[in-house]
Amino acid sequence: MASYDVVIIGSGPGGYVAAIRAAQLGLKTAVVEKDAIGGRCLNYACIPAKAVLRSADMVQEVREAGDFGITVGEPQVDFGKVMERRGEVVSSLTGGVGMLLKKHKIDFHEGLGSLTDAGTVKVGDQELEAAKAIILATGSVKRPIPGASFGGRVIGTEEAWALETLPATLAVVGAGASGAEIASAYVRLGSKVQLFEGLDRVLPSEDADVSKAAARGFKKQGIDLHTKTFVTDIATGKSSVTFAYGDEKGEAEWLVIAAGRGPDVEGLGLDLAGVTLDEGGLIAVDGTLRTNVAKIYAIGDLVHGPALAHKASEEGVIAVEHAAGLDPHPLDYADIPRATFCLPNVGSFGLSEQEAKDAGHDVVVGKVPYGVAGATTVYGDRTGMVKLVGDKRYGEILGAHIVGAKATDMVQEIVNAKLLEGGYPELARMIHGHPTFSEAVLEAARAADGWLIHG
Ligand SMILES: Cc1cc2nc3c(=O)[nH]c(=O)nc-3n(C[C@H](O)[C@H](O)[C@H](O)COP(=O)(O)OP(=O)(O)OC[C@H]3O[C@@H](n4cnc5c(N)ncnc54)[C@H](O)[C@@H]3O)c2cc1C
Repeated sequence: MASYDVVIIGSGPGGYVAAIRAAQLGLKTAVVEKDAIGGRCLNYACIPAKAVLRSADMVQEVREAGDFGITVGEPQVDFGKVMERRGEVVSSLTGGVGMLLKKHKIDFHEGLGSLTDAGTVKVGDQELEAAKAIILATGSVKRPIPGASFGGRVIGTEEAWALETLPATLAVVGAGASGAEIASAYVRLGSKVQLFEGLDRVLPSEDADVSKAAARGFKKQGIDLHTKTFVTDIATGKSSVTFAYGDEKGEAEWLVIAAGRGPDVEGLGLDLAGVTLDEGGLIAVDGTLRTNVAKIYAIGDLVHGPALAHKASEEGVIAVEHAAGLDPHPLDYADIPRATFCLPNVGSFGLSEQEAKDAGHDVVVGKVPYGVAGATTVYGDRTGMVKLVGDKRYGEILGAHIVGAKATDMVQEIVNAKLLEGGYPELARMIHGHPTFSEAVLEAARAADGWLIHG
């Protein structure tokens, strides 16, 4: 039996970051991984998605180059090359994670890890004993919609980012972050895309104004968008899939189900260790990510909160620091930024206007079009919006919702202002560089405070 202080199952952004933090704290650490180092995030999800989206953004820019005085022909998409670059991006980043684990002298065990009791992990024939903590970081797996199953031409989001040829037609079920990204990438690369959402708006967990702006953008790109529409009667054939929506029938080369995921706990031995789930079917944890079993922690997509890579990483840090005897601050889930890389780009955090009203806040909204910042005219995209939601009583920032170019980066400064206990009146008096997109954030804060300058 090999002995460690910390054994981590899963090497995604939750697991590998936890491992590095553990090693920094002087803990002897092992990581167990059944598939590829870097987890789903680096190998199949966030990173491959963003690599392909980057190619779609590039095509878009080339198409618009004439507006900037640059004459080029109609761009040709070499999808094989797009996917080759995607592969290079993935291997560069996963290679980097491998090097970091080595640098920190973290042992890497390949194979399926499972709990045999409250302090031991089995990998193949080997048993790894953990003196201080076992951290479960095994992520999540795709789930089909009711009445459908994966297989043949019906695929999940990870497969959608790994197609070998550019599909002529693609149907995407679910217009949340993942579905919106897939639809927006493939339509710009040249596929004919239908996007279906059962609820009444795209990106339904975002502020309603963001959904409106995103839907406008999607239609402009040529996505055939259907909200309040359920896809049924899915039947996969050899080279296409047929389905029904409303009273109509559809057919596409691939049908992507982007409508939910569940925790990957199969074969993890939760029963043997006595680890319990919460009412949502996720692993039940407290503020320091401890399960009901002493020394066993769970993080990332296995536990409550938004299924996001940066949330998994931060939980990994908190779990390890707690196991090491430190007193980490529990995560404030409301302040986790969300980034969606469709066109238009969406960056947000905290409460939407409606959620703030429902929660009984004395709501103030500072909403400005991107045009308030000169930089957006220079850049050539004034179609975006910054919306800051606050509470009038103390000038508190409750949430922010940005849609438009660079939104995913821009939202971070508002998160930071809030985390540093700044309100919108303070943000309104922080000098922003000129001409930058961030001046639109400044103006949204001024608008909330009642003295918008450029508008
Ligand atoms: C298509 C797609 C795009 C996404 N884009 C983004 C994005 O842009 N930004 C963002 O923040 N989030 C994004 N997400 C969500 C993000 O991928 C997850 O929140 C994140 O990967 C969770 O990290 P994790 O460490 O919990 O698990 P994962 O990244 O899922 O890693 C878990 C690892 O554990 C391994 N494992 C599982 N069971 C065992 C076992 N028993 N033994 C050994 N190893 C095991 C798995 O093989 C896997 O490598 C996206 C998700 C999808 C599906």
